[in-house]
Amino acid sequence: MTAHLEAVDRTPGARFPTVTVTSPIDSRTVDVLRAVTPEEVRGTATRLRAAQPAWEELGLEGRLTWLRRYRNWLLDNADRITGLLHEETGKAKAEAPIELGLSIDALNYYCDHAAEFLGTGQPWPHGMLTATKRLEVNYRPYPMVGVISPWNYPLALALFDALPALIAGAAVLLKPSSETPLAISAAVAGWEEIGAPRVFATVVGAGIGSVVVDSVDYVQFTGSTATGRTVAQQAAARLIPYGFELGGKDAAIVLADADLAQAAAGIAFGGLSNSGQMCTAVERVYVEDSVYNEFVTELVEVVAALRQRPGGLDDGSVDIGAMVTLSQVAVATEQVRDAVDKGATVRVGGSGDGHYFEPTVLTGVDHSMRVMTEETFGPILPVMPVRDVEEAIRLANDSQYGLSASVWTGNTRRGKEIARRIEVGSVDVNDVNAHLACFPLPMSGWKSSGAGGGRLGGAAGIRKYCRTTAVTSPRIELSAIAALLWFPYSPWKTRAVGQTMRLLGARDIKRRFGM
Ligand code: NAD
Repeated sequence: MTAHLEAVDRTPGARFPTVTVTSPIDSRTVDVLRAVTPEEVRGTATRLRAAQPAWEELGLEGRLTWLRRYRNWLLDNADRITGLLHEETGKAKAEAPIELGLSIDALNYYCDHAAEFLGTGQPWPHGMLTATKRLEVNYRPYPMVGVISPWNYPLALALFDALPALIAGAAVLLKPSSETPLAISAAVAGWEEIGAPRVFATVVGAGIGSVVVDSVDYVQFTGSTATGRTVAQQAAARLIPYGFELGGKDAAIVLADADLAQAAAGIAFGGLSNSGQMCTAVERVYVEDSVYNEFVTELVEVVAALRQRPGGLDDGSVDIGAMVTLSQVAVATEQVRDAVDKGATVRVGGSGDGHYFEPTVLTGVDHSMRVMTEETFGPILPVMPVRDVEEAIRLANDSQYGLSASVWTGNTRRGKEIARRIEVGSVDVNDVNAHLACFPLPMSGWKSSGAGGGRLGGAAGIRKYCRTTAVTSPRIELSAIAALLWFPYSPWKTRAVGQTMRLLGARDIKRRFGM
């Protein structure tokens, strides 16, 4: 555990404020953590900041040695961490290992490519004017990166953002959601356990997010669009850069030539895994008229067969787990009620009980209903027929969000053409969420779904944590020529500069020679 979590007072209501983590599965108290105060957050930030220069000084190879040891520690402790994740989120046991698995895959990807991504860039001069110069781009980390993460994927979303920052040479102050702090705190504790330099810490507590934003040099935030707006204002006031991953309302478009059984199975998985609590969950389905009935029949069949066992033992064969917060169950309940009031039909599921909401398919929906326009973050799939692909694209783009989407078709080339017309950051053709595991690809939302540096995405995913120093030096010592441009000016020099600019800027003989 980090310094603060070591000092946990496990008595609820003790002298210090506490964070009680209860399992959504059976409301059992899983752990009680001592909540840190704003002053303690500042203290942790000061300690991390003091340790960061030595971390940077270690150099890339030195840092990678620690990151690889840390990878091994995570693998050795995977069962314990994944167990905590299952308990605190209530997600199906089968889904829990995915978070750590993907995080380790991302860690390996950045370890393998960091030298290429962070090495000094040496671009060629772009033209004659600077041809005598040698150009360099150097990358140096922001000393302290703040990572603020949500409760739906508490492990992966924190580690995806924190690990590249550590590799870049930054210190990382991580604030997980107070709803789900246990698995990620256990994972970060491993950093200390392997004896790595103390540049990585979590702080858990209520109302401390803004203190984190005030303490760091770069903010990587994942959460709701509303909180993102608040964090953006605070970051702007401090003139610090940020990367935001925010809410979504992802569309799936099913064309008449799609393999409907595959589309139904994929869309059920994309919309309902993690009980729909996924920023990139399928939350709207548009199906071409001619295959609409057949698709709905397939989808209802798949969803009706999903296994949910509220409060019961999950032996790994449960498909749909619990939802993390009761307030999110209330959102799902309210959206179904609103849709039904306006004429929608519940084809399967439709109601919640405690932390569990049934996997649900709605038909007869349209964009007057909240379930088609507002983020659901619950296991609900509303399906709407469309005349043709043009209507499907128009409706998919009729949203304040622009995170990701999927297109289902028998013609991959056509699927890719449609993908380029949807106003979102990522599209999967004949799949869902495949892009999340493709680390060379950027994950970044359009519109209200994101701002600033996106997540991962090859070199950009690690360079965003760095400031650049551009250096020029002479490739050929022709300083006398450069000095011709310096003071003092003269009519001859003024004419020469004008003519040179014309010569270099024009792309036709007439203009080049002023004819
Ligand atoms: P949230 O916005 O309520 O909280 C996110 C984090 O921000 C939490 O750690 C919270 O404590 C912290 N926070 C709250 N107020 C803050 C403030 N003023 N300053 C700094 N930090 C503050 O989001 P949530 O309910 O935890 O998560 C669900 C939301 O996250 C959904 O909207 C979902 O779409 C979004 N999300 C987006 C992605 C993505 O990659 N685009 C991934 C997962 C979740």
